[in-house]
Amino acid sequence: MRPQVLFPLFTDIASLKGIGAKYEKLIKKLCGDKVVDMLWHLPYSLIDRTYQPKIATAQEGKVATIKVRVVEHIPPKSKKQPYKVVVEDDSDEMILNFFKVYADSTAKNLPVGEERVISGKVESFNGMKQMTHPDYIVLPAEAEKIIGIEPVYPLTAGVTNKMLCRLVRQALQRVADYPEWEDDKFVHQRGFMPFRQALLQAHFPKKIADVEPSSLARMRLAYDELLANQLALAIVRQKVKKQPGRVLASSGELQRKVLSHLSFDLTNAQKRVLAEIEADQKAPFRMLRLLQGDVGSGKTIVALLSMLNAVECGAQAAIMAPTEILAKQHLETMQPLCAQLGVRAELLTGRVKGKARKQILEDLALGKINIIIGTHALFVDDVAFKDLAYIVVDEQHRFGVQQRLALSAKGNDADILVMTATPIPRTLVLTAYGDMEYSKIDEVPAGRKPVDTRAVPLSKLPDVVAGLKRKLDDGCRAYWVCPLVEESEKTDLAAAEERFATLQRVFGNKVGMVHGKMKEAEKDAVMEDFKSGKITLLVATTVIEVGVNVPEATLMIIEHAERFGLAQLHQLRGRIKRGFQASTCILMYGYPLSETSRSRLDIMRKTEDGFLIAEKDLELRGGGEILGTRQSGFSEFKVADMSVHKDLLYTANKDAKLILELDPALASPRGQALRILLYLFGQDDAVRTYRS
Ligand code: ADP
Ligand code: MG
Repeated sequence: MRPQVLFPLFTDIASLKGIGAKYEKLIKKLCGDKVVDMLWHLPYSLIDRTYQPKIATAQEGKVATIKVRVVEHIPPKSKKQPYKVVVEDDSDEMILNFFKVYADSTAKNLPVGEERVISGKVESFNGMKQMTHPDYIVLPAEAEKIIGIEPVYPLTAGVTNKMLCRLVRQALQRVADYPEWEDDKFVHQRGFMPFRQALLQAHFPKKIADVEPSSLARMRLAYDELLANQLALAIVRQKVKKQPGRVLASSGELQRKVLSHLSFDLTNAQKRVLAEIEADQKAPFRMLRLLQGDVGSGKTIVALLSMLNAVECGAQAAIMAPTEILAKQHLETMQPLCAQLGVRAELLTGRVKGKARKQILEDLALGKINIIIGTHALFVDDVAFKDLAYIVVDEQHRFGVQQRLALSAKGNDADILVMTATPIPRTLVLTAYGDMEYSKIDEVPAGRKPVDTRAVPLSKLPDVVAGLKRKLDDGCRAYWVCPLVEESEKTDLAAAEERFATLQRVFGNKVGMVHGKMKEAEKDAVMEDFKSGKITLLVATTVIEVGVNVPEATLMIIEHAERFGLAQLHQLRGRIKRGFQASTCILMYGYPLSETSRSRLDIMRKTEDGFLIAEKDLELRGGGEILGTRQSGFSEFKVADMSVHKDLLYTANKDAKLILELDPALASPRGQALRILLYLFGQDDAVRTYRS
């Protein structure tokens, strides 16, 4: 249960004074549902209201706080003019402008002859000082209501900064002095202040450096958040590891047979990764491992070899692909190899129906099928296994921590391997996949030819089409990728269809098209035609992004390449990197091309290193984009900012491991304090694992 000291923070944000029904929705959307969310809504700037000049000396453009006397009201002559109020002090006069303000309320706030303290930006017009809509108009006795240095918060239409300041102050009053959860020595070394003090300092900046992510207060808060994240993931990992798992210790007989049938040797990276997987398979604990390898690095064969370990032990293995096309592709690779060993591999997707399906379900339940290849339908349906001991999830980087846990519940203490071709920067691996062990194939098989990548303006389209024609006449196969932006999917689809039509005029029935709105079966049919060579040019929206394998395709043209993310371009280009022939990728860009876009295309031309590209992409676009989801566990950080706090993340990762080594039950005084930290940052699931 959540510690009692945190109760005041975990009540509805509407319980703060001054929200009311009117603002509840807006504030919730801006900050979050709970009072605690207000704490993480940090200012990004500040307004210094300590400047208190006389009217005569008030500098134009500066925010000033001035004591004035009201002289006269001048109502507007037309609707477009402002309502003017003349004020003075002993140095000069000044005009206050109000647009669309009822004379009544203005008059009430500024009665002629009375004194008021006003604060706002000083302007000048025709030699006369002015102020438009002062931020503050208060009685001299209430001058301290004006915050000397006012934090400036991210806002949304309808919510004022003043209002947020008031709400944040209330929220901060609900923060108690919690016991220190960080290591004393570390806090001392870094010069960190206690949590509560850091929070106050972050919300009440004194100078602009105080709102920088690199300020000591923010560093402390960021570290707290990162430690909560890393500790939560480490706890889940610890739990998975403690779950009893299968001991899949084969003699490697089937593997040796397969390897003898292959035309190549495994790369060192493949061998190393396979050994890492096998160590997990042999251990009596549940395996949950991420296998990362760039496109074409040879993950499929590693998956198959590890599945055969399970089969040799008399159990079943499953591999789950994100699409039907990919599942079928795996079948085509694996089935012939398995057949030579007397191992039965079958396909089960939503499209296997009727009698065939019934038969497969029956044989699966009886254990007559050793390896089943399919889509996620494998796990949601009425599919029963005789003894499923090993699950491979392919290309499924959209799989969250909770889903991984759910999946592991389906099998018979099954070991799980998650494979992804999206090179994920280390920071992301730690935060989004921190619950998993991690293997990386960091080497592609020797002899691969680099892709000749060129950037060409869209105005050269006719030349590109002419070049394409020559290539196709020579017997090559090519992809033509059209951009598809989610929000305006329809118009983009229309654009793609238009391009398809123009290309059809040149290439006739040799052109096919696939897009996201097509039924799986239709897509498959077109893909089949492309694979078999019935069509030689495939116009596609980004649906071809994941894993499709047509070794004969050696040319790719990407229209409006500047609209794609780097990681996406890398994935796309990977489609023509599969053979040993030279291949070409043409990145067509539209004008105007921004600096960033230009440097992105440059990176694509200069390197094929997916990890380097991913790091750059992260710098340019942020983590959520790489994983294609907001719930990547990366964009979720409230305080931490990976462009500044990367090092803190690595430290938090080590710290979390050490904490669990010394105090696996979080029972020590520091452990108890850490529980508060976990709750504070919403990592309730992790703490709850202690009770189950
Ligand atoms: P990915 O990691 O993208 O899934 P694949 O497993 O599909 O890559 O492998 C790409 C191609 O490389 C396949 O045709 C596969 O047979 C081949 N391959 C895999 N490992 C090696 C190797 N060690 N040497 C040469 N070719 C290999
Ligand atoms: Mg693959």
